[in-house]
Amino acid sequence: MGLKLFNTLSRSIQEFAPLDSSGKKVGMYCCGPTVYDFAHIGNWRTFVFGDLVRRYLEFKDFHVTHVMNITDVEDKIIRRVRETKTSLREFTGKFEAAFLDDLQTLGCRLPHQMPRATEHIPEIISLIEKLIQRGVAYRAADGSVYFSIEKYRGCGCNYGQLLKLNFDEMRAGERVKSDEYAKESVADFALWKARAPEDGDVFWPSPFGEGRPGWHIECSAMSMKILGASFDLHLGGEDLIFPHHEDEIAQSEGATGRPFVKHWLHGAHLLVEGNKMSKSLGNFFTLRDLLAKGFTGREVRYLLLSAHYRETFNFTLDGLTGAKTALARIDECVGKLREIAGTPGTVPARAVGVQASACSADTLKRELQPAETVLGVPLIVNFTGALDDDLNISAAWAVVFDWVRDMNRRLAENSLSAADTESALTDWDKIDSVLGIGAKSDAEVPAEILALAEARTAAKQAKDFKRADAIRGELKAGGWAIEDTPKGPKLKKV
Ligand SMILES: [Zn+2]
Repeated sequence: MGLKLFNTLSRSIQEFAPLDSSGKKVGMYCCGPTVYDFAHIGNWRTFVFGDLVRRYLEFKDFHVTHVMNITDVEDKIIRRVRETKTSLREFTGKFEAAFLDDLQTLGCRLPHQMPRATEHIPEIISLIEKLIQRGVAYRAADGSVYFSIEKYRGCGCNYGQLLKLNFDEMRAGERVKSDEYAKESVADFALWKARAPEDGDVFWPSPFGEGRPGWHIECSAMSMKILGASFDLHLGGEDLIFPHHEDEIAQSEGATGRPFVKHWLHGAHLLVEGNKMSKSLGNFFTLRDLLAKGFTGREVRYLLLSAHYRETFNFTLDGLTGAKTALARIDECVGKLREIAGTPGTVPARAVGVQASACSADTLKRELQPAETVLGVPLIVNFTGALDDDLNISAAWAVVFDWVRDMNRRLAENSLSAADTESALTDWDKIDSVLGIGAKSDAEVPAEILALAEARTAAKQAKDFKRADAIRGELKAGGWAIEDTPKGPKLKKV
């Protein structure tokens, strides 16, 4: 079975098939952060969802080019730059760095390209020029350039592909300069905003006069520059459907005359403690707020990934405590498997965010045969079946916890051989290349402890037993016990 995804464009679940003739290359664009503040947990739901899509495509052997823009010039940013009396770059640089830190704390793979809007002003200007040439954009009396919805529709183009709009209520030529507006005020939107006194130093020269780009055109220019006029996947939160994504389609298709994006994926809203997040309700959390409460990025990632991406999800602190328990069950099981496989203390840490190799479902099915016979739980086949079904993550977690239960039972019966456990661990690593939660275990030995263990082995080989004993003492002082086994020394946290 192939991967099926809900496409906002067709409002239906469709088989995912990339435009690439070999069916392997996938161009994926995710609207990135507007770097005017720390991203909140609602934003993170969308970014972690984007990471899941990318990881799952890679698991299925697609060669993904993942692009995420950095919006570093936009209405809200300019307001904050003015308020804080800093330079644009200084202001946005701080929040961009924080965003990248948080992205890694949450175990997200870094996008392959992260273009900044301010570094694509020539591409933005040339896209606007193309729209003017094609007669779907015009310079207004205020010096700004607007996209004409009437002219665009007059060319037979469809404005309102992602959302049904009522054009009877619209007055031709009415304009909106702000980047964010409701569908009730659909109007010609700004591509280039003429320099205004409140913009301060934030402006660029252009053939239309000094000014700065609108938010929507930034994404059209950067996505098409990197991924081409038509590409496979465009992701974002559902709040971006209108006007941002609708305007991206209009600008891109208005300039190229070609379909912009094949599959549009949108993640649903997040509620926090049952309510819309708001600072006054005290339920507004950045990732940093949650880390300060003692939770880890891994726990936050787990909770954000626990519900289907198209369902509104209620994020709660109790839920995070539940995430801790759920992850501990996985950790305990995987830790025991590693112990039996004879690898604790020597397996490299499977840290969150570390990329494991991807495998095609077919290869996996073939590889799985012996494991299925021995272990009885077709972990990867069931996991793939769940995620192929429009990324049914709840079903995928159910598969994981069934597997944990089955492994625990076999561990209790003492019926797993070293080969069985190695095969189970290989499966787990494949699964975790998608989930990205890693698994804490004794295997995560700090580098300095490993170095001491190696020095002890060397001392023993040199028959310097006094030195070897001294190192054992040092290890003990560092909280680690070392045990000599027929398979070599094993480290254990004490
Ligand atoms: Zn965007």
